[in-house]
Amino acid sequence: MSEQPSPELRERALRIRERLLQVFGMPDRPFLPPVDELVCTILSQNTNDVNRDRAFEALKARYPTWEAVRDADEQELAQVIRVAGLGNQKAARIKEALRRITQSQGRITLDFLKTWPVEKARAWLEAMPGVGPKTAAIVLLFSLGKPAFPVDTHVHRVTGRLGLRPPRMSREAAHRWLEQVFPPETYYDVHLNLIRLGRTYCRPRNPRCHECPLLDLCPEGQRRTRGGQAPSAVGGEPTGE
Ligand code: SF4
Repeated sequence: MSEQPSPELRERALRIRERLLQVFGMPDRPFLPPVDELVCTILSQNTNDVNRDRAFEALKARYPTWEAVRDADEQELAQVIRVAGLGNQKAARIKEALRRITQSQGRITLDFLKTWPVEKARAWLEAMPGVGPKTAAIVLLFSLGKPAFPVDTHVHRVTGRLGLRPPRMSREAAHRWLEQVFPPETYYDVHLNLIRLGRTYCRPRNPRCHECPLLDLCPEGQRRTRGGQAPSAVGGEPTGE
């Protein structure tokens, strides 16, 4: 990537991070082992958290081990996880990922990636069919403790409105960009708090700019409210949608 984030943008990004921490606090996301996180993230593609969790629970209830999932009948696996949608595609991706891990390691584990440099581990994960930048970054960040910044649809939308990335930048390209905008030690909380902002205030349609605690830091919010004032520097989560 030729263009680099400016020092001013990085400085504004840190102010946004601090505001998010003031509003939402430090997130506390449950830890999953790396293979669980990989499968769970494949299940989450194109669905919501509730249906992802239902599918993951059904999968774990039906199959006692990852080896059993790898060797399962693909049609049966698709049925077990159908609540997450795209059952056939996701079953094929999960089985292929587990096969590739087995071929590489002789057993089903991703712990070897913990000792690899982040770019090497990212490339290894992204070489699997159905594993793109977001899925790889989620496994790297949340299960392997690596500095990677996942960009889902919420993070992509919110960072665009906040002016944290070029307006036309793709979601894929935004991964590397935001990794340069924010310091690595902030990726965890910034990623999760941007999602929270996107689900509460900065919704896809009709964002609640007048109530948003980031209004004074947000060019899109300023435009939408014609320069309105932020309600307060620190505000609670809205009580209803
Ligand atoms: Fe989103 Fe509006 Fe808040 Fe900006 S001010 S982050 S556009 S809700």
